[in-house]
Amino acid sequence: MATVLTGGTVVTAAECYRADVRMEQGRITQIGESVAEDGDQQVDAAGCYLFPGGIDPHTHFDLPVGGTTTADDFASGTAAAAAGGTTTVLDFATQHKGETLQQALANWQRKAAGHCYVDYGFHLAISDWNAAIQAEMTAVIEQGVSSFKLYMAYKNVLQVDDGVLLAAMRTARQHGALICLHCENGDVIAALVQEAVARGQTGPEYHALTRPALLEGEAVNRAVCLARLAQAPLYVVHVSCAEALRVLQEAQERGWPVYGETCPQYLLLDEACYQKPDFEAAKYVMSPPLRPAANQVFLWQGLADGNLLTTASDHCSFNFKQQKELGRSSFQCIPNGAPGVENRFGLLYTYGVAAGKLSLNQFVAVTSTNAAKLFGLYPAKGTLAVGSDADIVVWDPAEKRVITARDQVQRVDYNAYEGFMQTGNARAVFLRGRQIAANGRLLDAAPAGRYLKRSRFASNRMS
Ligand SMILES: [Zn+2]
Repeated sequence: MATVLTGGTVVTAAECYRADVRMEQGRITQIGESVAEDGDQQVDAAGCYLFPGGIDPHTHFDLPVGGTTTADDFASGTAAAAAGGTTTVLDFATQHKGETLQQALANWQRKAAGHCYVDYGFHLAISDWNAAIQAEMTAVIEQGVSSFKLYMAYKNVLQVDDGVLLAAMRTARQHGALICLHCENGDVIAALVQEAVARGQTGPEYHALTRPALLEGEAVNRAVCLARLAQAPLYVVHVSCAEALRVLQEAQERGWPVYGETCPQYLLLDEACYQKPDFEAAKYVMSPPLRPAANQVFLWQGLADGNLLTTASDHCSFNFKQQKELGRSSFQCIPNGAPGVENRFGLLYTYGVAAGKLSLNQFVAVTSTNAAKLFGLYPAKGTLAVGSDADIVVWDPAEKRVITARDQVQRVDYNAYEGFMQTGNARAVFLRGRQIAANGRLLDAAPAGRYLKRSRFASNRMS
């Protein structure tokens, strides 16, 4: 049986028009006027936008960090994604030291399989490096993992040196993969942290003070230089500040294939959060840290101008009680990360579209289309077209709600956007033609998310 969404406005990264959308066997089969046939189930979408389901290209579910594990696993994390209008997540299968890439991937496949409410794929986060691991990259790409993440920060844990970065970039370019980089100067941060702790500066606010924006800008610049040397494309994750954005803009003006991602927390929250009393500042301990508010205008402009192509939640949730509290004696022990997978889509609509900073088309580009193109999912995902997966958000722009941890789906004891107003709401969310959420709630159905084998990176898709 087919389902037809009637009376809505179809929005893609390029167009915006009134049409009905017919979905059959998981795909979009028709877009046009009055496409319903006898026996079709009709869903009234009058007054609503029909957006491609959101793609969150940066989540960490079921990730062990410093003796504890993220509050959200794949079940609760993808349930929250679905409730908020996100129908695809790309999570980081993270290699622990001593593991092969195949072991890391198998580990994450096991964590996710059968538990996901939305479709999912993996980047592979490499923390250990040798010739055998380099050789393994090709096998992993064959399994649909066409992007790798490396860290320039987290010394002695995840950080790799510049020689490894260069080698990984070369291998990725050769085999059609994209390197995603966490850009902060880990060596200098480690030194600043030591100095602070020696002075007895152990409160959560020192997390931010020991990781200044300059060190993100420096690392992005170094990464761009290495990518040029390797003649490889580069994707910089969670760009948080003007210092980093400027480097990307300059590289892009010269025509180099350098792409940027930012996150709602850097667009909407700022370093003032570190002044919150009663250790509440720990809720905002993430890397990079929240920046001075003056950066936000640059980041929004970067999204509108296409210098930043994607928005990701970097969802990495730890409960305030018992998890963030592990760092009461010193900020070094606060697990890094914050929740956001449930709210990314709505926040970008509210503070982007409704606030006049992004057009509807730009909103779609930065919440789904660009990520689909970069990460080998387009056009099955990331657009509304005949033949694409019927991943659709019926968005009612007339609704309003207040974001609060009290009614959230993500399984964590706070919300970083507590009290923020959301304009519009995901009235219905469809995953491959089946409705999985309504009005911000997950429908009572078994998890039906599928693993997405992604195709190789192609720079011509991005122009
Ligand atoms: Zn992350």
